[in-house]
Amino acid sequence: MATIPLKQVTLQDILDESTIEGELYEKLEDDKLRCLACGHRCLIFPDKRGICQVRYNVEGTLYVPHGYAPPVCRAIRWKKSLTFTLCPAVTP
Ligand code: SF4
Repeated sequence: MATIPLKQVTLQDILDESTIEGELYEKLEDDKLRCLACGHRCLIFPDKRGICQVRYNVEGTLYVPHGYAPPVCRAIRWKKSLTFTLCPAVTP
């Protein structure tokens, strides 16, 4: 009986499906690019990622997260407000 190799799906694989082409970057020679979205100003080579690990270069195009950050931000805000309610000395 033949065995079918299982592909391990990572969180990165899942998040990479929720990306679009970014706007804040400049194209450089040899499919390199420079991301301008934050102070790191990463120089990103083809098939590599920036320091944040969520922005990456595919053939000279920058792909950025799209569509999943707002729920994460809402969850963080909810946790902060709960912490403030339970312990008001902690500034949210
Ligand atoms: S790739 Fe990420 S860490 Fe680098 S400049 Fe862009 S947003 Fe900042």
